[in-house]
Amino acid sequence: MAKILVSACLLGCKVRYDGNDLKVKTGNFQDILKTNEIVPFCPEVAGGLSVPRIAAEIIGGMGTDVLEGNAKIIGKDGSDLTEPFMQGAKLALELCQKNGIKQAILAEASPSCGSSEIYDGRFEGVKIKGQGLTCAYLQRAGIQVVSQHQVLVLQPGKV
Ligand code: SF4
Repeated sequence: MAKILVSACLLGCKVRYDGNDLKVKTGNFQDILKTNEIVPFCPEVAGGLSVPRIAAEIIGGMGTDVLEGNAKIIGKDGSDLTEPFMQGAKLALELCQKNGIKQAILAEASPSCGSSEIYDGRFEGVKIKGQGLTCAYLQRAGIQVVSQHQVLVLQPGKV
C-alpha cells in the first residue's frame, strides 16, 4: 500500500476558492482510494488563504516560471498571492517528505494543483498547457503528479 497525496477538494472537502469541492466518483479513482493510504491536502488553505477566496491565476507563465521568479500568482482583484501559494507548495513537499510520499493526484487546471493545464492568466476561462505551482514544486523534487483524469497511470502498491 502506497501513500498518495490527494487534493482535498477531489475527496469532497469544500476547500475550493468558491467554497465548493470537486469530488471524484469514478471507479478508477475510488479504487485508488481503497488500495492506497490517502493523505488529503489543500495547498492554498495550508498556505493561509480562506474559503471562499478570490479566484487566482498565474500571470506570465506557469508554476515553473513562478519558482524562478519570472511569473506571479494574482487574484482577480489584482492582489499578489504568490507568497501564500508558495507557502502551500512548500508545505505540500514537506508533508510528502515526512511521509515518504512519492505520488500525488492533484486537481487539474488549478494554479496550485494543475498538472497538464492551467488558466491563461486573463480570467476569461481559457486554459493553456502548463502546471500549477504546487505541482511544479513537487515534480521538481521527483514526485510523480497526475490529475484526477489520469489515475490509471499510477500503479497502486508498486511505489
Ligand atoms: S488548491 Fe488544490 S486542493 Fe486546494 S481547492 Fe484548489 S485544486 Fe483543490
